[in-house]
Amino acid sequence: MSNNTSIEWTDHTWNFISAYAGRRRGWFCTKRTKACANCYAEAINLRLGNGLTYTPNNLDKVEFRVETKLLLDPLRWRTSRKVFVNSMTDFFHPSIPDWMRRIGFAVMMCRPKCWFQILTKQPEKMEQFFQDNTLGDCFTEAMHRADDYPRLAASLRAFEGLEMVPAQWPLTNVALLVSVGEQKDADEFIPYLLRTPAAVRGLSLEPLLGPVKLESLRINKLMPGAPGFDWLIIGGESGKKARPCNIEWIRRLIQQGSAADNAVFVKQLGAKPTMSGIAYAAALPVGIECKHGYDVCPKCDSEDKPLYPKLKHKKGGDWSEWPADLRVREFPPGCEPRT
Ligand code: SF4
Repeated sequence: MSNNTSIEWTDHTWNFISAYAGRRRGWFCTKRTKACANCYAEAINLRLGNGLTYTPNNLDKVEFRVETKLLLDPLRWRTSRKVFVNSMTDFFHPSIPDWMRRIGFAVMMCRPKCWFQILTKQPEKMEQFFQDNTLGDCFTEAMHRADDYPRLAASLRAFEGLEMVPAQWPLTNVALLVSVGEQKDADEFIPYLLRTPAAVRGLSLEPLLGPVKLESLRINKLMPGAPGFDWLIIGGESGKKARPCNIEWIRRLIQQGSAADNAVFVKQLGAKPTMSGIAYAAALPVGIECKHGYDVCPKCDSEDKPLYPKLKHKKGGDWSEWPADLRVREFPPGCEPRT
């Protein structure tokens, strides 16, 4: 199997929706939360794509298109894999027409042994899409476009012959995750996710910008009897402009996830992990320093001053440098690709 990404929780990124600015092909999205500030997809688009920033004033300069060859890539794969759908934009961005999502789900339907992972900061649009569109609509969309995508139509016909086309949502090989950087995002986004039909529901808590309480009273009150999460991905921010991530925020999320029987995947501590209190630092396999660059500093003698672990991995992604209790990388049961 070929991996085309270094993202630890997936094997492959699948970007079949592009955004053209005139003749320049790239991608597009608009920033929604604080977590979007240092968007890696925008940085790649500025270098290698259509050259536009991901800002609302550029929205009318782009035209979203489906790239036929890329759309059909999963039909050519011989091995199963974990697939991150549209890593360069937001699959549920309101400006992407629904037919593009319908046709994407038709392809996912044809590859039940692959596990498709969709992350969004547009949970309202996600909920609306599943209310407005059935799986049958996705099937019909692909059939109506059989002249454009004959291979997809043939695959769906074969599935139909085997009576393997699922009757209704959810698709069992699709995970839906909302991206949450801080408590405000959690309170706003999670209720939509919990109302959306999904075989696997999760949160991508990356970049983590503050403490997040998942059992917040507000969420429970809004959603009595709601389903829980299956998966939490947690990570600090990487890159030159990375914002600090306190290791204690990660630790508390692991504890909340484990207590609720969620699979937890700690991706990285980020480029600027911090710790408060010398007591925690004792459990760290690497050294620490204060903001002045000393491990014992006359100016930072308080227990509460932030301390910075001296990690070698630039994204904080090497777990041999982490405290032992943070070394958790789990997938929800049955979600590893099947061979
Ligand atoms: S939602 Fe994702 S792709 Fe879109 S601007 Fe935010 S970080 Fe970038």
